[in-house]
Amino acid sequence: MRRIDLKSANVARSNTIRDINRQIVLNYVRERGPISRSEIAHETELQRSTVSLIVDELKASGLIDEGSGESTGGRPPILLSLRTTDAVAIGVDLGTARTIVAASDLAGRLQEQEMFPTNPDADKTIQEIIASVQKLLRKYSRTIEGIGVSLPGFVNPETDELYIPHFAWRDIPIADELRAATGLPVKIDNDANAAALAELWFGRPEIREVRNFIMVLVEEGVGTGIVFDGQVYCGEAGAAGEFGHMVIGKGAPVACASGSRECWEAFSSERAALARYATSVRDSNGLPAKDFLDLVSLAMKGDSAACGALKETAHYLGVGIANLIQGLAPEAVIVGGPIAGAWSIFHEDLKAAVETSLCRGIPLKPIIPSTLGDEPTIMGAISLVLAGKFASVSFA
Ligand SMILES: [Zn+2]
Repeated sequence: MRRIDLKSANVARSNTIRDINRQIVLNYVRERGPISRSEIAHETELQRSTVSLIVDELKASGLIDEGSGESTGGRPPILLSLRTTDAVAIGVDLGTARTIVAASDLAGRLQEQEMFPTNPDADKTIQEIIASVQKLLRKYSRTIEGIGVSLPGFVNPETDELYIPHFAWRDIPIADELRAATGLPVKIDNDANAAALAELWFGRPEIREVRNFIMVLVEEGVGTGIVFDGQVYCGEAGAAGEFGHMVIGKGAPVACASGSRECWEAFSSERAALARYATSVRDSNGLPAKDFLDLVSLAMKGDSAACGALKETAHYLGVGIANLIQGLAPEAVIVGGPIAGAWSIFHEDLKAAVETSLCRGIPLKPIIPSTLGDEPTIMGAISLVLAGKFASVSFA
């Protein structure tokens, strides 16, 4: 049961119940639409007149549209759906190798996107992001309501303080400069937390309906987003979820972002898999993989050294996941990032490693690949804007 925090207790405002009802109706339309007013009234047990009032407000706010459904005899029913004719959010997914800038509609469907290599010079990267965002704004300026930015490092979403170990960037003014250049609200967050938020709101139903899960994002490093009771757990200063630095052994093939060879990410990241492959092909005078996607495509073509490198990496991924299951008791664990593209090659090794690492009596939980496709992080960036619209509806 949640304790009331007396330091920040607010007496419930008289319109709190109205806000909650609006949120419920909007989420019915989002998840079950096209749906009629009477179906919503029936399922929510709200008065039909209350539903109609809320629907009118949601229509006036540009969140939902109505159209005619199929007639089953009499007058065709009027059905409500999310308004998806316009792009409403811009997502910026800043990765260690590439940055994606995309525009999305209210349902989280990407309308348009652009990708470019991330420049190790922070100023240049920020300028490139601004140019790309402005290109989208020229097309969608009337309807875009905010920008979400997903970053591979430590982020305090309240203060915009950040640290990206890969580039040694500390507190680069990305949010401020985007705000100044566009006049739009900008929200930044860690990539794994943002991807967890995206699974929660825009994942397939098998995840959307789960209230407690862990998103394990495997990229250059390994990050986790923890969802407790349908909400991303951020921790003090947004720093929760750094399980990539839990110690799981000694003598990893690479060092973690902070220089240790004992951390989970030193055993389980893309860099660890690439190092394993490089060691194995060196013995046969072969060439190392160009990058991680190259390694995945070699493995999918049946290259045995590439498959071996991914299976060994999956083993260590499984050891860490077993620790998370034991400590946090999630209903499911999701693995996201480009590695999920080779799921068929390693998922049995992953499951076996989790099973053997769990202490006797602790049940195995479903471990599934991200339901957001190859790029869960761009959906994460978009979700930083969209989830706010569904989680808290305000009418100015
Ligand atoms: Zn570490």
